[in-house]
Amino acid sequence: MKVYKAAIIGLGPSGLAVNKILYGDSSSEVIAFENENINKRDNYFGFWLTDWMKPFENIIEKKWYQWTIGNKNINIIHTSSDKPYCVISFKKWKNFCLDTKNKLEIKNKKVAKYFPIKNYFKVITDDNTEYYAEKIYDSRHTKEKNGELLQHFYGINITVPDNTFNQNELTLMYFTGEKNLLHFMYVLPFSHNKALVESTVFSKDVFNNSWYREKIYKYLNQKNIIEFTETGAEKGIIPMFMAAENNSSSRNVLNIGIRGGACKPSTGYAFSFLIKQIQLLKYSKKNSVNIHKFLERKMDKIFINFLKNNNEDGRSFIKLASNLNGNEFQSFMMGNSNLLTKFKIIKSMPKLPFIKELFK
Ligand SMILES: Cc1cc2nc3c(=O)[nH]c(=O)nc-3n(C[C@H](O)[C@H](O)[C@H](O)COP(=O)(O)OP(=O)(O)OC[C@H]3O[C@@H](n4cnc5c(N)ncnc54)[C@H](O)[C@@H]3O)c2cc1C
Repeated sequence: MKVYKAAIIGLGPSGLAVNKILYGDSSSEVIAFENENINKRDNYFGFWLTDWMKPFENIIEKKWYQWTIGNKNINIIHTSSDKPYCVISFKKWKNFCLDTKNKLEIKNKKVAKYFPIKNYFKVITDDNTEYYAEKIYDSRHTKEKNGELLQHFYGINITVPDNTFNQNELTLMYFTGEKNLLHFMYVLPFSHNKALVESTVFSKDVFNNSWYREKIYKYLNQKNIIEFTETGAEKGIIPMFMAAENNSSSRNVLNIGIRGGACKPSTGYAFSFLIKQIQLLKYSKKNSVNIHKFLERKMDKIFINFLKNNNEDGRSFIKLASNLNGNEFQSFMMGNSNLLTKFKIIKSMPKLPFIKELFK
């Protein structure tokens, strides 16, 4: 009977990070289970270049030193010379994380359950095969929860006539002013004629693909982009609630990625946080680490409750962006803001609804 050093459940970005960061330089035998075909997955993960992301600079697809937040009436431009907005593609992250010294065996199977026996774990897959490992890294997570907000989006990659886009400026949030719905466009111009154009909603219910497509076409039309060729699409649902599962009582069962609390619920950003989580786990004796600081978590909770209970059309985001400079804004998004920035953030928010949420 073979006992692997570790079993990774799910080869999303966090499972992949475990292989690279925790086992990549060792000769350990690791087994990973993934029930989807990850070779078919491709999407971009955005983040601002924090210190902990610097080791991955080589695989960054593109950096933008300027981004905008606005609506049809106002356009806030943020710049940062040392903390650009960056994207890494899933494909590049996957190849990077699979290029290691350790021996990784990948099983295209669904894990049904696992439990401890002696000083290791028995993992049972849905075809009733048994595997054994000393440690478990579990990244299965809940996407939806009744009554909770979700960030859901659909984007298309397009090629357009030359010099259509300003490739140095990314549209982080362009609020379209839908009635009773928080909706914005996110546009990543990879070059003057190639971009990812995404329609994003914060709400409790997810829509059909055609809904987002209609918003994308309308936006492109407003920008006079009539001629384009579609080269790909991505879609996603990210929980805007604390999706972390309770920590296991066993030190050798580790919840990772969104399951381990990596997602910053108020923004849906998770990629760089899940990498930070795995980096912290490398030097921790515990089976969990605090990725988001106490005050950040508290502010996130108040902000989400505000979004849940008020018809927000993007004005709070625009006001926030207008009160912060690029570096302050990115520090807030990356959970690194100092007290002065936190004070500015609180000052930017609508007072009464926020005070109400604070005392709930
Ligand atoms: C299209 C898209 C774009 C995103 N863009 C950004 C972004 O720009 N910036 C950002 O910070 N975040 C972004 N996110 C959010 C977040 O970074 C991702 O959701 C990320 O994939 C989370 O990684 P994870 O490893 O925690 O979970 P997942 O990627 O969901 O990985 C879990 C894996 O486990 C597998 N699995 C589930 N159950 C089983 C089982 N029983 N047995 C075996 N395998 C199983 C799943 O198939 C999946 O591959 C995006 C998400 C999506 C979907």
